[in-house]
Amino acid sequence: MEKIRMTTPIVEMDGDEMTRVIWKWIKEILIEPYVDLKTEYYDLGLVHRNETEDQVTIDASNATKKYGVAVKCATITPNAARMTEYKLSQMWKSPNGTIRAILDGTVFRTPILVKGITPYIPTWTKPITIARHAYGDIYKNVEMKCPEGSKAELVLTDKDGNETREVIHEFKDSDGIIQGVHNRRDSIESFARACFNYALDMKQDIWFATKDTISKKYDHTFKDIFQEIFDREYKEKFALLGIEYFYTLIDDAVARVIRSEGGYIWACKNYDGDVMSDMLATAFGSLGLMTSVLVSPTGVYEFEAAHGTVTRHYYNYLKGEKTSTNPIATIFAWTGALKKRGELDGIPQLSEFAQKLEKASIQTMEDGIMDKNLSLISKLENKRAVDTETFLNEIDARLKKLLG
Ligand code: NAP
Ligand code: MG
Repeated sequence: MEKIRMTTPIVEMDGDEMTRVIWKWIKEILIEPYVDLKTEYYDLGLVHRNETEDQVTIDASNATKKYGVAVKCATITPNAARMTEYKLSQMWKSPNGTIRAILDGTVFRTPILVKGITPYIPTWTKPITIARHAYGDIYKNVEMKCPEGSKAELVLTDKDGNETREVIHEFKDSDGIIQGVHNRRDSIESFARACFNYALDMKQDIWFATKDTISKKYDHTFKDIFQEIFDREYKEKFALLGIEYFYTLIDDAVARVIRSEGGYIWACKNYDGDVMSDMLATAFGSLGLMTSVLVSPTGVYEFEAAHGTVTRHYYNYLKGEKTSTNPIATIFAWTGALKKRGELDGIPQLSEFAQKLEKASIQTMEDGIMDKNLSLISKLENKRAVDTETFLNEIDARLKKLLG
């Protein structure tokens, strides 16, 4: 078979630990034999981030802006223990945070559904994609403890120095607490556009919810911005595809999500997204089956697995032991990027190849072949936990059949 040719490179961001090992195997076993893979390689492994004083993360983000499609391996976010382990000159920031800030992107997380791994909610037969607004609210708050007898006020000073005041509370007969939160119109607008663009891309409805009945200015502004942008820029495009923008109150949304069959995108404010994404990930079954894509408001895509570098497995690997690590979410990061590249460059063979690789991956798990953690929760009778390389080779055997 002749290898599929690519025209534009994918920005490839390598990473750390077990996922770095798997990264190489996925390319060698499942992609390079079939695709004349063109990537612009950036090593975001912690060693190289430290050597370049994290410049490599910035360079990789700018390359992503330039080419439009990136795939990223999981990376270590340093903490105190990593400072010594890697002899770091600084506690470098989370690469995902840096990339997100440069691309002004929104993260969408989608579970991969397979037979044998049943969601805790039996009606969920299709994936629910969750999008979290990753700026502001309580994540950039200012807090104070208020002694008894104190008075708390909001003070806004405009550019001419005029003050507007509003009493928050007078702590007359009890002490208490206050919190100041903010958000920015430009950030909310970017979030809304990323969500609407992704809904068009996925051809799925999008839901959004806030508590606008209680928070008549703060949350209501989120609601208004989403509605204005939708009406002005997306209404017609949605109508053409037969998809909907659906707004409701957050508590109503939660109730509807539980009763739903899935198959839509759920846009969440920062805190709701933080909480609900963990709920959804657990309810759908496994972190090893959760994919993630960062989408910028201008339509730049960075694909990755939602899980981390699987440190415990890596230490076993270093001791020479075989690990049983699930490569599926990382494979789907690659297929996401290949599909997108194929779509943008008009290379249908590339998108078809990626679809077949996804199909082969799912078939493998549905044939009962999986990693140890998945086998612990799988309801299949013929399940068999295998090591990582066997898992990849079993996928390749099925891929070969699908490719004919
Ligand atoms: P993790 O790497 O996701 O792993 C947590 C545990 O979940 C693993 O020890 C393993 O459980 C299980 N697990 C996760 N992915 C799996 C897979 N593909 N196959 C099988 N089991 C899997 O999270 P962490 O231990 O909290 O973080 C480790 C490192 O990753 C940290 O340095 C963190 O900074 C980084 N991280 C990076 C990203 C990212 O780049 N996007 C995201 C999260 C964390 P068992 O040990 O029980 O087998
Ligand atoms: Mg959380």
